[in-house]
Amino acid sequence: MLVRLCQLLTTAYIVAEFINRSLFPMFQHALAAAKPIRVGIIGGGVAGSTIAMHLSARDDVEVTLFEQGQSLVNGPPICHLHAGGNLYREIDDQQCLTLLQESIDTLKLFPHCANVRPTVIVVPQRDAGDVAALLPRLQLLQQHYQQLVAADPSNQVLGEPCDYFRCYSEAQLQQLALKPLPAAPTQHDDWLIPLAKELDFDSVKWPLILVQEYGLSLFRLAASAELTLAARTNCQVKLNHKVTAVKRCGGGFRLTFGGSSQDSVYVDYLINACGHLSGSVDDELQVPAQRMVEFKAAYLASWAGQGHWPEVIFHGERGTPNGMAQLTPYADGLFQLHGMTESITLFSDGLARAHGGSAQPKLPLPLRRKLKDGWPQQLVEQRSRAAIDHLAVFLPNFANANPAGKPLYGAQQIPGQDVSLRAADVEFPAPHYARAEIVKANSALPAAKAIERQLFADCADTAAAAIALSPLQVQQRGEQIACERNYPAALARRIPA
Ligand SMILES: Cc1cc2nc3c(=O)[nH]c(=O)nc-3n(C[C@H](O)[C@H](O)[C@H](O)COP(=O)(O)OP(=O)(O)OC[C@H]3O[C@@H](n4cnc5c(N)ncnc54)[C@H](O)[C@@H]3O)c2cc1C
Repeated sequence: MLVRLCQLLTTAYIVAEFINRSLFPMFQHALAAAKPIRVGIIGGGVAGSTIAMHLSARDDVEVTLFEQGQSLVNGPPICHLHAGGNLYREIDDQQCLTLLQESIDTLKLFPHCANVRPTVIVVPQRDAGDVAALLPRLQLLQQHYQQLVAADPSNQVLGEPCDYFRCYSEAQLQQLALKPLPAAPTQHDDWLIPLAKELDFDSVKWPLILVQEYGLSLFRLAASAELTLAARTNCQVKLNHKVTAVKRCGGGFRLTFGGSSQDSVYVDYLINACGHLSGSVDDELQVPAQRMVEFKAAYLASWAGQGHWPEVIFHGERGTPNGMAQLTPYADGLFQLHGMTESITLFSDGLARAHGGSAQPKLPLPLRRKLKDGWPQQLVEQRSRAAIDHLAVFLPNFANANPAGKPLYGAQQIPGQDVSLRAADVEFPAPHYARAEIVKANSALPAAKAIERQLFADCADTAAAAIALSPLQVQQRGEQIACERNYPAALARRIPA
């Protein structure tokens, strides 16, 4: 009798699981015909905002987006699009191909957010790496880009596929160094002229590689998300609203949130897009997860009158004093600097792992204080100066640059246990619950698409139409957002201007 009962219960459990996992999208879709699905998104970073933009393009969804901060996309910095992952020698080719595809889709959704200038990849003399070793991957990426453009010409957002990358010899750079700085760069060579004039030729290996890896503007992303969602009647954006409790309730969830007063709302489907705080929602729902959280910072320097610069990457072994140096240009002679050493971008104890039954990694107190209260001015000066000196090894005149304000910093999540993971999007670890955990901004749209596929059997695999925004509108709001966060407005300006 007992055995029979157990068999019945097991069968009932299997049927229930099947319905939940396999038939859930169809059920939800049928339900949606009568009543929109209520989707709650916790976290208005680039992941949560993009998912809200994507889902609210459907009229059978009602989205509520909760963000504890004052504006959208206010998490850690975003400055590179990573269209091919060429900043990361250590990742596998598949991740690079994924990042390339995702970058193309991201540029289509956020057409006014790219800083369209190339990236120059440099292998320093002091580095053990070899330039030739980088070429097979670049050729693979170029072929893949060519195929994507052949399949759909609208994918051509990174220039001509045959121009995806180009090598420059020492002799070519010597010639370019003699040319005047162009008023506005129109071809690859133009972008190399400022670098050719400033580079210490003896400090690098040849050739240099120019690749169509563009910049991505954090502040114009924030503006685009805000303006798009403001135009959607089926999306409520609740800024300054922290979700303080998440409870399973019926088939969905009850979210308690605090604005001016504590309130609660019921949602059919929950999306955790809390960035480095994603583990706190997992803990509330008792969903186990492995993840890491890393605190990092980039610095601002002003260096006027040097023409239109490309991004320049000087490779180096991460975490050593010779870690990669990155020079990211903005308007008005402003540069953002990374140095992958513990005295610049990285921090000792800056990488925390989930452990002890909690899915939420805990950063050391001094780093948590920085996240909450900001940085002491002396430390800003010290690390900004170290970043300037790190670049000046290759660009001697850059030693004359000056620190230009508070760093761009934050804690970033890395799902799983592989610290070099760069392409990650979303998991569905429990019924009606999605956890969007991206490492790079361009994985936000794939996460949104995967969630839509989970919710709706009928969804076409295309990006939902973005609201038509004007470039000026996006830039003006982006500049305001930069100023509201005490950063120079130049960070939000399009380059080349
Ligand atoms: C120094 C540095 C440089 C970087 N450079 C790049 C780059 O060039 N290109 C790139 O693609 N990526 C870059 N990254 C990574 C990128 O910043 C992150 O991957 C990205 O911001 C993650 O977006 P997200 O939306 O998942 O998380 P977040 O941006 O952290 O957003 C999560 C949001 O959730 C909100 N939140 C959390 N808990 C709650 C709650 N309970 N209630 C309400 N709201 C809540 C937070 O306030 C936050 O706004 C960089 C990271 C760092 C640290």
